[in-house]
Amino acid sequence: MATKWVYLFKEGSADMRNLLGGKGANLAEMTNLGLPIPQGFTVTTEACTDYYNQGKKISEEIQGQIMDALKVLETQQGKTFGDTENPLLVSVRSGARASMPGMMDTILNLGLNDVAVEGFAKKTGNPRFAYDSYRRFIQMFSDVVMEIPKSKFERVLDEIKESKGCEFDTDLTAEDLKNVIAQYKALYKTEKGSDFPQEPVAQLMEAVKAVFRSWDNPRAIYYRRMNDIPGSWGTAVNVQAMVFGNMGDTSGTGVAFTRNPSTGEAEIYGEYLINAQGEDVVAGIRTPQPITKLEEDLPECYKQFMEIANKLEDHYSDMQDMEFTIEDGKLFFLQTRNGKRTAPAALQIACDLVDEGKITEEEAVLRIEAKALDQLLHPGFDIEALAAGKVIGQALPASPGAAAGRVYFTADSAKAHHEAGERVILVRLETSPEDIEGMHAAEGILTVRGGMTSHAAVVARGMGTACVSGCSEITIDEAAKAFTLGGETVKEGDYISLDGSSGKIYLGDIKTVEASISGNFDRIMHWADKFRTLKVRTNADTPADAANALKFGAEGIGLCRTEHMFFEGERIHKIRKMILSNTSEAREAALNELIPYQKGDFKAIYEVMEGNPVTIRFLDPPLHEFVPTEEADIKALADDMGLTVEAVKATCNSLHEFNPMMGHRGCRLAVTYPEIAKMQTRAVMEAAIEVEQEKGFKIVPEIMIPLVGEKRELKFVKDVVVETAELVKQEKGSDMQYHVGTMIEIPRAALLADEIAEEAEFFSFGTNDLTQMTFGFSRDDAGKFLDAYYTNKIYESDPFARLDQEGVGQLVKMACEKGRTTRPDIKLGICGEHGGDPSTVEFCHKVGLSYVSCSPFRVPIARLAAAQAALRHPR
Ligand code: PEP
Ligand code: MG
Repeated sequence: MATKWVYLFKEGSADMRNLLGGKGANLAEMTNLGLPIPQGFTVTTEACTDYYNQGKKISEEIQGQIMDALKVLETQQGKTFGDTENPLLVSVRSGARASMPGMMDTILNLGLNDVAVEGFAKKTGNPRFAYDSYRRFIQMFSDVVMEIPKSKFERVLDEIKESKGCEFDTDLTAEDLKNVIAQYKALYKTEKGSDFPQEPVAQLMEAVKAVFRSWDNPRAIYYRRMNDIPGSWGTAVNVQAMVFGNMGDTSGTGVAFTRNPSTGEAEIYGEYLINAQGEDVVAGIRTPQPITKLEEDLPECYKQFMEIANKLEDHYSDMQDMEFTIEDGKLFFLQTRNGKRTAPAALQIACDLVDEGKITEEEAVLRIEAKALDQLLHPGFDIEALAAGKVIGQALPASPGAAAGRVYFTADSAKAHHEAGERVILVRLETSPEDIEGMHAAEGILTVRGGMTSHAAVVARGMGTACVSGCSEITIDEAAKAFTLGGETVKEGDYISLDGSSGKIYLGDIKTVEASISGNFDRIMHWADKFRTLKVRTNADTPADAANALKFGAEGIGLCRTEHMFFEGERIHKIRKMILSNTSEAREAALNELIPYQKGDFKAIYEVMEGNPVTIRFLDPPLHEFVPTEEADIKALADDMGLTVEAVKATCNSLHEFNPMMGHRGCRLAVTYPEIAKMQTRAVMEAAIEVEQEKGFKIVPEIMIPLVGEKRELKFVKDVVVETAELVKQEKGSDMQYHVGTMIEIPRAALLADEIAEEAEFFSFGTNDLTQMTFGFSRDDAGKFLDAYYTNKIYESDPFARLDQEGVGQLVKMACEKGRTTRPDIKLGICGEHGGDPSTVEFCHKVGLSYVSCSPFRVPIARLAAAQAALRHPR
């Protein structure tokens, strides 16, 4: 049978999301529920894939099916495309499987041209409205489809408004708007060298193509990378008959949520504008009214709206985000979807829905996006610092959290200064999807225009970035790169602080403090812990980190990087001394100075961990991170070691490596200098035995040898470890058990994992190095060229953040299988940065690891992701 590329709304349903996209599937579902939906059709996501496969062309077959659906729509509506009396007008909107704010904007009023606008004026008896609709269409089509900058059209409009002395668009007369249209068309011709397209079918096909194209615009690619959305999904296109919210004071348009998307409170929440079209609300050009005011303005509509809103929430058993339009007193729903929400709101809503008996605990756990928990762990302001802070203004609390940073006025400069290491606050009139990277780079976002459902608010909430929006008292002076607010002038580069929870804007750099969590969070985490089978450990190198991670629910330490214990203060000096020692006597002397620090830290960590497992990874200092380069450091070392500065410099030079990441690090260090492994084993064993004796915890030390690629290499180091450990046990009269294992972080170790397991009692996948060495991408340098890989669609995500399951994952899987053939009960974990990434956690669950280990702040994310993986893939 021929492929069906186009579905009328009445032909689809909610479970066809993959094919129809989220918006299309929900429009179909709402149609089936008998709700007032302007009718239309959806061009499928498969048609988008086909468009790319055909070299960015819509096939004849698909165009034919679009035309057939259009005919049906015309009959349903009793209107004809391009008609001189009663033209059919449509909206064209993108709609992927997952909602993607980085993609194409909506095009409204498509179908208007120089002739149809007259028919439309006649039919509606409202020429002003007809011309306004046409000028909006020209502007939107030119911007979204033809990529002529919107600002050029805005300038034309502003000039005409100014010459007429009008403050608002609504003050322009039909004649003024005709003039706007003429100038818009002239502008189009200058920009494109051809006339504005007059043929509605051509307009439609161009618009469909533009939606397909938008799937691959840089913003969409970036958004997909941030949200783990595969490029292969494609987007659907929805073509829907227009209804008009700008037909006068009994018309309007709005956006509403069935529960508060910031707090989760169970109350209707939203905004609308009387006499406006959709984009006016979203773009925040006028500041909208709260939805509850609709009850006064149009009580019948409000009543019906509330009934439908409740029905939709019950139907989807989740908070809904709905768009609606009232045309001359008649209510239409334009879309519904599960609403985006802040992390606190997500927890509140999930708990409430469980309490209301609408969903199960399992569903509640599955509903919460694991990455979003990050927001809960974000800082607030230090109370005292805040009390001393000067409030210069207050606006809408659009996305919670506290942020302080230097002010920048464009997304590009925010991004550049962020990359230079500054904390930045992005200040914009209003944001649009082009600003996404700047928004991501910012600690906080402040906008002059826009309500709680504006782009800035919605996107910032999704990102967990603090945002204050709609601060209309701000005057921005673009030329001077400054703004004034509350009598203060803030220049580019000056500090301000934002409280995204209260909407307050402060002068200066106010200190922020760690977040605290409880209540709903604990409840959800408790449910998650019931369902997950993966254990969650943490990567912690200090007792303070370990204590923090325990608070977040870590069940052990999966990676204690012992070289990191020497980063601070005088310690770095001591480890440098050891690294620069030229003789084994000098090295042993240096090691003897290190032992007290190391043993002290191990003891403190064992005490904090109270008998939970702790994996201590032996020294793995890539030399470029440790060899001194500063003159003062070199001089201090020379003095301490009784050497000349020249001699120390000569040693540093001799240690220079061309590829330090593949150099003299990891177990290679212990192979050349076994005394290092000896020292570390002594420190571990003495610390463990003493804490066990002093505190009574049962401790089984886990010693992990890094960067192993060969069984004999591991055995060599292990022999040193075992000999020393047994000696310490004898000295201390202890029979403590301990395990010696390895990291799998070199492809050769994965290939020979069965042999390595003969010596290793456990494996921990060091996926940072395993990724580096499998891709041949330097961990330190890949950032410089990976962007080109994303834009050229060679890779979709950063392989150092999200495990490359196809390549690196295959090595992990193989090493697990091979390891188990030798040692069926071998303990398997992961400790690369990927351990806190939800998609990687799911992969780890599927390949049967025992635990994941990640940085303390990501522990809750990993716990939730592990539960979701267990619910989706029972094992
Ligand atoms: C790894 O390589 O994944 C790892 C955890 O070790 P490090 O990051 O210290 O090299
Ligand atoms: Mg490593």
